[in-house]
Parts: sequence; C-alpha cells; structure tokens
Amino acid sequence: MLNDSLKVDLHCHSNVSDGVLAPIAVAAYARKAGVGVWALTDHDEVGGIKAARVAADELGMHFVSGVEISVTWANQTVHLVGLQIDEDDPALLAGLAATRHGRDARGREIARQLDAAGIPNAYEGAVKYVGNPDLLSRTHFARYLVECGACQTTAEVFKKYLTEGKPGYVPHRWASLEDAMGWIKSAGGIPVIAHPGRYKFTQTGEDALFDTFRQLGGNAIEVVTGSHTPDQYATYAEVARRYGFLASRGTDFHAPGESRVEFDALPPLPSGVTPVWHDWF
Ligand code: AMP
Ligand code: MN
Ligand code: MN
Ligand code: MN
Repeated sequence: MLNDSLKVDLHCHSNVSDGVLAPIAVAAYARKAGVGVWALTDHDEVGGIKAARVAADELGMHFVSGVEISVTWANQTVHLVGLQIDEDDPALLAGLAATRHGRDARGREIARQLDAAGIPNAYEGAVKYVGNPDLLSRTHFARYLVECGACQTTAEVFKKYLTEGKPGYVPHRWASLEDAMGWIKSAGGIPVIAHPGRYKFTQTGEDALFDTFRQLGGNAIEVVTGSHTPDQYATYAEVARRYGFLASRGTDFHAPGESRVEFDALPPLPSGVTPVWHDWF
C-alpha cells in the first residue's frame, strides 16, 4: 500500500466535462505538482480516459480510470465517483449517455432565466467555454458570468446565480443512486460518495444516504477533497471510521487557480482511516 497519500489524487476534471485543460494537460499539471497516482473523473463522461491513461503512463504516474456521476437522491443532487472502471463497459456508457441527455435544454432554460435577470446571451457565452457539446455545465455559465462582469469570481456566481432560489437555477433529474451504483459495478469499479460535506441534508438525511449507499454495496467516501473545508476533513474521517467506509482523497481540480485547493496544498488523509487505494498496489 502507498503510505504517502499526498501523492494520490483521485478526483479531477478536464475539458471533456467542466475543467479547462485537455486530459493530457491535466496529467502534466498533476505530475508537476508531485502526483504519482492519478484519476481523471469527468462528470458523466469517460471520453477523456484513454488520452489521460497514455499521458499518465508517459509521465510515470499510476493511472486510475474514473468518472463522477450526477445523481438525484432524496430530491438533491449527489455526486458519485466511480474508480477503477472499465471505460468501455456498455452498461456504463449507456447510463452516462442517458445522464448527459437534457443538459442542453437545461442550459437554454438557464440562459432564459439569466436573460430575464438582465444578463443576455448567456447560452452563447457559456457554449464558448464548452469542450464537449454533450456536457454544457453550470460551470460554463459561471465562467461566462465572470467574463461579462456580472460577478468577480465563479464562487460569487454560485452565491448569486445558478443555485436554488437564485436566477438561473433549473432543477434537473439526474441518474438514480441505484442505477449509478449499478453502472459502476457493471464496469468493475468502486463507487465513492463525492464531497459528502457539500450536500444540504439534515443529519437524518445524511445518515440515510450513507445507509442506503451501504445497502447498495457502497463502502467508500471522499474525506479530503478540495470541495471540503478543513473542519469537514475531520468530520468525514469520523464518518468513515463509524461506518467502516474506505476514505478517498482528491482536489476536485477544474482549472489552475479556480479550485479552492491546488494539488500541492491538499492535506493527507487523517490518521485512523483506511485509504480506498489500500489494496491497489
Ligand atoms: P452541473 O453538473 O451543470 O449542475 O454543474 C455542477 C458543477 O458546478 C460542479 O461540478 C462544480 O464544478 C460547479 N459548482 C457547483 N456549485 C459550486 C459552487 N458553490 N462553487 C463553485 N463551483 C460550483
Ligand atoms: Mn464540476
Ligand atoms: Mn462534484
Ligand atoms: Mn468533481
């Protein structure tokens, strides 16, 4: 087992979803920051995996094929990372294609709402940032809202727009947790609940998510992620110990300077948790 968890990054995005760098450029960026075990986990899409694997091999990084599936559970969006997946698995590919479906129509509705709020041409503006026409994301809108001066940062965008109760929020039904778990399992992968601290569940709701996940065969959560605050590293390390879940770690990198934490600034996993990669090497 690799003890140095600082070298492991199991959550990153490329321009195949809502990151800005091509998969090979993400690989190079991660390598330069000292990453030795790296997963590309684009949203609802595995189109970058083969290029990423070649790049990682050339750079001497151990590559882990991954994906981050958008799920609707108890009326909230939950992200489920799949690690060590076979990116050619037909059930996974069909499930991801179905999950991507509807993003464009949702984007047009987001733009209609932004227009009504005084921000015209947001659809065209967002599409300029898209690397994969099947994957128009709120992140692309956020970049455009910064570009046009509506906000200073993408973080500010998600405070003022695109989220529940704000202009540009369009509810969307993603995959079910059962289906997404099934696709990951079909592809031989390990399901991991991404950034559990980001969801707005009550304590009872959060416990129900973990219980359901476990009943469906899940046994890993992200503990140290760029989407958690330092307090949440400790909170979810404790959850991992209590539930007996394996712990994952990753920056949730999207773009240089855009993530809350850069590759080399993310802390190691807290002690007393078992890394999800404990039996990989
Ligand atoms: P979508 O899948 O189109 O709903 O977009 C979700 C993406 O928006 C996430 O993967 C993040 O990259 C980004 N996002 C969501 N909420 C925030 C936030 N509060 N701050 C920054 N980025 C966010
Ligand atoms: Mn994202
Ligand atoms: Mn996510
Ligand atoms: Mn992510």
